[in-house]
Amino acid sequence: MQDAWGEYTQIRIVYDNEAKAGFRRQWGFACLVGNNILFDTGGDLDTLLFNMMRFEVDLALINTIVLSHSHGDHVGGIGIVDNLGDVRVFVPRSFSGRFKKKLSSRPNVELIEVSEPTTISDGVFTTGELGQFTKEQALVVESNKGLVVITGCSHPGLESILRSAAQFGKVYGVIGGFHDFDRLLLLENISLVIPCHCTKRKRAILTLYPKSSRVCAAGCRIEV
Ligand SMILES: [Zn+2]
Ligand SMILES: [Zn+2]
Repeated sequence: MQDAWGEYTQIRIVYDNEAKAGFRRQWGFACLVGNNILFDTGGDLDTLLFNMMRFEVDLALINTIVLSHSHGDHVGGIGIVDNLGDVRVFVPRSFSGRFKKKLSSRPNVELIEVSEPTTISDGVFTTGELGQFTKEQALVVESNKGLVVITGCSHPGLESILRSAAQFGKVYGVIGGFHDFDRLLLLENISLVIPCHCTKRKRAILTLYPKSSRVCAAGCRIEV
């Protein structure tokens, strides 16, 4: 995806259980892709906005929000829509009617319900709703080096998310919550692995892949 940053796709972690100095940490996850796409919103609006201001994010540029799944630590900061201009919000179709109704009642929100794999914008895709119990979508972003997959909690299993993402091309990197994913050897051929948020085996991943993996925290800027 080409954006104002030219050659690089830039991903900034704006909400995570860990934080770099100067940023706030809180249980949950959110990141900003380029200048205009917010993936998840963390658990509370205050922390989300605080971290975004630390990055000097221009809220006026955000025109797309993608919510991975309905858990509070990913949708808790959705009130941010009131600080934005016109914004498309992509949610899994399985979200509650109440949530969808409330969101679509905002005059600046265009609610888009996702079930199948879909193109969000040029070079940006969603895997569509995956999983049985907690349904979840992941974001797939084209970069110069290949696809970067961004996950919320990976409740459907990171394997099935990566399998679905591969329909769009070769996966270069994966960033986000991997939950209880334990088939770590499946990450062997991925060049960039950033386990965030709820990932239970963070330390094992960082130890097994010292070259390709990186520590995640609010305040991290990843350029691909
Ligand atoms: Zn979750
Ligand atoms: Zn979570």
